[in-house]
Amino acid sequence: MAPGAGPSGSTLVAGVIGDPVAHSLSPRIHNAAFRALGLDWVFVALPVARGQAAAAVDGARALGLRGLSVTMPHKEAVIASLDGLTSAAAELGAVNCILRAPHDDALLLGDNTDGQGYLRGLKADLGVEPAGRRFVVVGAGGAGRAVVQALAAAGAAAVTVVNRDPGRGEVAAALAGAVGALVPAADAGAVAAAVGAADVLVNATPVGMGDDGDLPVPEGFLRPDLVVSELVYHPATTPLVAAARRRGAPTANGLSMLVHQAAVAFEHWTGAAAPVEAMAAAAAAG
Ligand code: NAP
Repeated sequence: MAPGAGPSGSTLVAGVIGDPVAHSLSPRIHNAAFRALGLDWVFVALPVARGQAAAAVDGARALGLRGLSVTMPHKEAVIASLDGLTSAAAELGAVNCILRAPHDDALLLGDNTDGQGYLRGLKADLGVEPAGRRFVVVGAGGAGRAVVQALAAAGAAAVTVVNRDPGRGEVAAALAGAVGALVPAADAGAVAAAVGAADVLVNATPVGMGDDGDLPVPEGFLRPDLVVSELVYHPATTPLVAAARRRGAPTANGLSMLVHQAAVAFEHWTGAAAPVEAMAAAAAAG
């Protein structure tokens, strides 16, 4: 699309389905990327009510949409309507990106780009490669599970999950296979020992989004040689990021994961290398 021009008869369309989606930063991020590369594409937010995931995927198929991001509450429900899954999506049982199969445009595949996005962000922000390193991941929801799986697949030496609900924590720890372990959040001594033995602490809980100043682990557990990786990005400086800075620990928030999971999706859809700087600027402005 020429700069300043609107969509034309040949504009390609991608979008995000979810409920709610009005708050989503994805349109800003992807449209900035299309503009940066001069691609005649547009990305729109498509509100789709719970229970309508199959109808939405059928609609996307019929309308020739080139790609879909998938957010709550449809990440699991879309799976039954797809023609195949990547190994990441199959293991996680959750899809956040639908793409056309490279070998057959008529087939729709589901991927989960959160883990790859996390790894790219970890390297970009903090220079950390997981191979041989020991991680503690607090939180075992959708984001935590994607991070745990990706860290183990990237060769982490240990991935210890800390979670309030041990059952959910077990599911996450199992995704790390032989390097996975669970520590219930209620066992303060075991949490201290796990964090004490770790190279990187990841917060995959919403703790820090509110204004109560809460931390996912006590500040006294932080130290200058413990990398602190926050998944929350709003506020930009969470209580955990602020505490890590006070303790002299390298730290970054979750904005990079958000941008890089979108970059992986963008690359699936367009086949072009994602203009990450333009996407990050759009995300930060959002
Ligand atoms: P989720 O599926 O709802 O899982 C939430 C997890 O946090 C669960 O393990 C839950 O423990 C735990 N938790 C919730 N409240 C807690 C509290 N007060 N104290 C301790 N643990 C608590 O959410 P999600 O999708 O995984 O997302 C988690 C956070 O990651 C989000 O809030 C978001 O900020 C962030 N996130 C960032 C990105 C990114 O791109 N940067 C992407 C996705 C998510 P139980 O199992 O015991 O309930």
